[in-house]
Amino acid sequence: MKTSKKKESTNSRPQDNNSEAQCEEESELCPGFKDVDAFVKYGLGAVLSATKASAGLPQAGDEYDFYRSFPGFQEFCESQGDKLLHCMSQTMQHHGCRSHIRDRNKLTGIEERFDLVVDSNDVILERAGILLDEADGVNRSQKPIMPAGFQPPKIVVSSWNRKGSSSGSRSETFRLLHAKNVARPQLKFKEKVDNSNTPFVPKIFIKPNALKPLPSYFSNKQIRKERPEDLDVPAALADFIHQQRTQEHVEDMFAHPYQYELDHLTIAESLLSKPEPQMYKPVAETKLSFIDSLEDLVALNEKLCRLSEFAVDLEHHSYRSFLGLTCLMQISTREEDFIIDTLELRSEMYILNEAFTDPSIVKVFHGADSDIEWLQRDFGLYVVNLFDTHQASRALNLARHSLDHLLKQFCNVNSDKRYQLADWRIRPLPDEMIDYARADTHYLLYIYDSMRVQLLESNHGQPGLLQSVWNKSKDVSLKKYVKPIYTEESYLELQRKQKRSFNTQQLTTFRLLYAWRDKLARQEDESTGYVLPTHMMIKISEELPKEPQGIIACCNPVPPLVRQQVNELHLLVQQGREMPLLKAEIVAQKKKGLTPIKKAEVTLFGPHDTSRGSESDNPQLTADEVPIKQGILFSDEDHRMDVDEQKISGLLAPARITLFQELESPADEMSLSVAQMKARRIIESFENPFRMYLPSTGAHVNKNSKFDPSSKIFEISKRWKLQSIEQQQKELEVKKKSKEEAKQQAKKLTEERTKAKESYQESVQNITTVRQQAAVSHSLSCLFHFRWNTLHEKVELRVARSLVPHVKDSQFNHVR
Ligand code: AMP
Ligand code: MN
Ligand code: ZN
Repeated sequence: MKTSKKKESTNSRPQDNNSEAQCEEESELCPGFKDVDAFVKYGLGAVLSATKASAGLPQAGDEYDFYRSFPGFQEFCESQGDKLLHCMSQTMQHHGCRSHIRDRNKLTGIEERFDLVVDSNDVILERAGILLDEADGVNRSQKPIMPAGFQPPKIVVSSWNRKGSSSGSRSETFRLLHAKNVARPQLKFKEKVDNSNTPFVPKIFIKPNALKPLPSYFSNKQIRKERPEDLDVPAALADFIHQQRTQEHVEDMFAHPYQYELDHLTIAESLLSKPEPQMYKPVAETKLSFIDSLEDLVALNEKLCRLSEFAVDLEHHSYRSFLGLTCLMQISTREEDFIIDTLELRSEMYILNEAFTDPSIVKVFHGADSDIEWLQRDFGLYVVNLFDTHQASRALNLARHSLDHLLKQFCNVNSDKRYQLADWRIRPLPDEMIDYARADTHYLLYIYDSMRVQLLESNHGQPGLLQSVWNKSKDVSLKKYVKPIYTEESYLELQRKQKRSFNTQQLTTFRLLYAWRDKLARQEDESTGYVLPTHMMIKISEELPKEPQGIIACCNPVPPLVRQQVNELHLLVQQGREMPLLKAEIVAQKKKGLTPIKKAEVTLFGPHDTSRGSESDNPQLTADEVPIKQGILFSDEDHRMDVDEQKISGLLAPARITLFQELESPADEMSLSVAQMKARRIIESFENPFRMYLPSTGAHVNKNSKFDPSSKIFEISKRWKLQSIEQQQKELEVKKKSKEEAKQQAKKLTEERTKAKESYQESVQNITTVRQQAAVSHSLSCLFHFRWNTLHEKVELRVARSLVPHVKDSQFNHVR
């Protein structure tokens, strides 16, 4: 899919004819090209040479500034720039994108222009991607889930020769790899992906090379891993209770597990002195191993542990997954190349921490920023002693900092990034993709040597510059993965970027669609772009279609989940349309603030829709919005609205209560400076993320809250928060179920406890090395399973109790 985007970007080439959209479908009609293939061939060649040419332009910053001081260069830039802008605006108009600039101010106008381009690219690419998928025969009306490992992926490989381009003299073969119906790798994961709207907690549970032991919280880590993914309220509540119990661990939970080791890492003298670059072996003479079994992975780890350096890279997929998936890890030593199937070995990858966190082994990456995050997110892997060649390239002030550039410069290897955006989930991996992936690390150790030499030489043999690269690399390895968290503000961020002026109805719809999309994407484990591309979301919000058919018409082609849930979406749009209409400018002025109508949509949303409650605690007002607020927010219209909505949604208290509360309690919101507001927001952002899940009967009192818990309003607001119909139904269900469940659980627990005890006896004696750990992983997992179950039962018990206070303790007791 991503690769296909390249194809469509031909649309922005000036020489293209306007009818390329039709040309995808009605191939004969495209003037100058006999069929689609011919057109694509031409287009791809043109795009590639354009990309190359643009990469060859002077770099922004000093280099550009220098060239810019020549009037000839300046004139040329300006005339070419105008030409390009004209082409772009024509392309945008052709695709029905907004291409005029409202903001005529030279400085701020640029920002808007840039947003416009980003926006239009999104529109064009999304449309093209979906069209291409459809043209490829992907049946988009079907749910794209297939049984694990059921069907070998069909790989569509098309190849062609590029037409002569202006710059390139040699003829290159383009291959476009695109898989349709790739089996979802997530289905095979031993441990479910956690898309819940809760902050990321490191996955690590064994810490090799520790100077400071792993906090006890993480030794129980497997407990969390074993928790079935559950987006329901009780599970989140269970999490919360679990967190409460481990309150003293909260700091540990969000810290970098190797912070201490990295802080105390000193770079060995030998790494600061001039090396003798060791030439890479020719690819053809280098052994390549494909690692897809635990046994091989353990062997690889042991091999790596004996080395003093190795190179690493990852390949990633983000379209058909909410958080993204690391699909491949490439490792190169001086002698060998390895490709690890990280989809297959996802749950075992952690054993590599032994080599990855060994401070005496250098890990060479190129541009590790994302890799560091992906390693943590998917495998619980950390890197101690990183050398990032991208950081080295910056320190050396090279013309370009891409890996291709380094390959060309140091190894005289011509690489291309054609497969960078291939669908890396494809299995078995086609040879071309293996070759490509392998080249990403094969030369890296030699580049590492050469760059160290240059860093020393360019600094008159002094280690300062080289040391700075080690430091910068260390900073990269200290990066922490942060999970995308949905808040009531999220949609505003996106809306701000779009620079659309929405009226109240449109904005409400946009907010509802945003929440729907986020929730569904988490649930289905798809990217938000797959569920509903942003430009379609905007179109629906702008048009506010009266009929479901109108929603479909806003989406061309229609995303499968939109088609599936069009009635749901229709209800959301209707809800938006019911809002009292306020002028766009006013909305724009107060769009960062709150509107009481925000609270209307209670029944349609699950636990992730924080908008239904938490704003009362977290009003996020900015100083400049406050004055307008009063006049508008407390208009008669709004009050009527509240009453109406109240009937519909089954709220116990009117939504605006929280606004009065807001005005009543804090000392004086209006008198706060912008800085104070910011500080307040930061403090508030540390509030318990599970707060929104709390039941009306729950005992939770938010200690950080600036509100007085003893006040009546606090009580009312708290009660209001979660009295959605959904919640009420849940409570009813729990009441019914809890009795019989308790019995069954007791039985299950006893059995499992016995079983786990047995395996525990066998396993604990042997835990010494990673290899042995891997060998006993089965027994271990039994043990963890046991631990988890015990805890899980307890948590459920607590939940059940808190929800069904009238059930006698004795009815729960035999669960223990
Ligand atoms: P690389 O380090 O160049 O091998 O890239 C690693 C992964 O990052 C690829 O598998 C892609 O998923 C992603 N990626 C790299 N470059 C881009 C790009 N220009 N746009 C989007 N994703 C990219
Ligand atoms: Mn990379
Ligand atoms: Zn790569």
